[in-house]
Amino acid sequence: MRILLLGGTREARELAQIASGERGFEIVSSLAGRVREPVLPAGEVRVGGFGGAEGLRDWLLAHRIDLVVDATHPFAGTITANAAAAASALDLPLIRLSRPGWTAEPGDNWIRVPDLAAAAETIADVGERVLLTIGRQGVSAFAGLTRPWFLIRAIDPPDPPLPARYELLLARGPFTVADETDLLVRECIDTVVTKDSGGDLTSAKLTAARAAGIPVVMIDRPPTPPGVVLTATVAETWERVCAGACGR
Ligand code: NAP
Repeated sequence: MRILLLGGTREARELAQIASGERGFEIVSSLAGRVREPVLPAGEVRVGGFGGAEGLRDWLLAHRIDLVVDATHPFAGTITANAAAAASALDLPLIRLSRPGWTAEPGDNWIRVPDLAAAAETIADVGERVLLTIGRQGVSAFAGLTRPWFLIRAIDPPDPPLPARYELLLARGPFTVADETDLLVRECIDTVVTKDSGGDLTSAKLTAARAAGIPVVMIDRPPTPPGVVLTATVAETWERVCAGACGR
């Protein structure tokens, strides 16, 4: 069974690792090529866009793919929509692995917003010193704001335009609660802005914000395209893949 694994996440790397030890599966992992020094998955890897839904459909045909697993980040809405369109056009099975989002706990002060634009609108009225921890993509939604001051944390520098007042902190998680607490105190952060990415790799900032009584602007995920098989964990996804292989 030939599988295209759309990746760029820890879950995708775990799936590639599992599949590389199994007979009967040929997996090609695909990365967008955004990160300069990506952590590479096991097995065959290709890097770069396909050229929209049509380009992806052509690629799937040319590479005789039997199944697509979309294990991209929950906020990678365009590639997820393209994968749904391309798989549907070829009548190929598609599994969307998307880890569950975070749930607020007692003591959390979250302001949920539907998207980046709403986060930028909200933050203009809420914070003075903001930890912007949404990755390098989407920072331009905050461009044009003259206040607040942002500490922008990302693995690689974001592309301009950027907010008027900011400092850049280049860092790759995971971070511990102690790291995050230290950062909030050291930088006198009064608000955190994050995407609802889910998972435990980047959740320490939420624990630290809760303990410090700091509000979190939580950006909701883009919608999942209809008609897609949704899974929440690597194990569940691998089960589905194996079930698909048995059904062939
Ligand atoms: P996106 O907005 O959904 O995709 C934009 C374009 O990038 C797509 O149309 C596609 O180009 C290309 N692309 C995206 N993922 C790809 C993949 N795995 N393989 C090949 N091409 C891909 O995606 P994004 O938000 O820019 O995210 C890009 C990558 O970074 C994803 O793989 C995602 O898993 C990872 N990532 C994203 C975030 C985030 O917050 N968005 C966080 C962590 C990791 P074509 O149309 O030319 O095919």
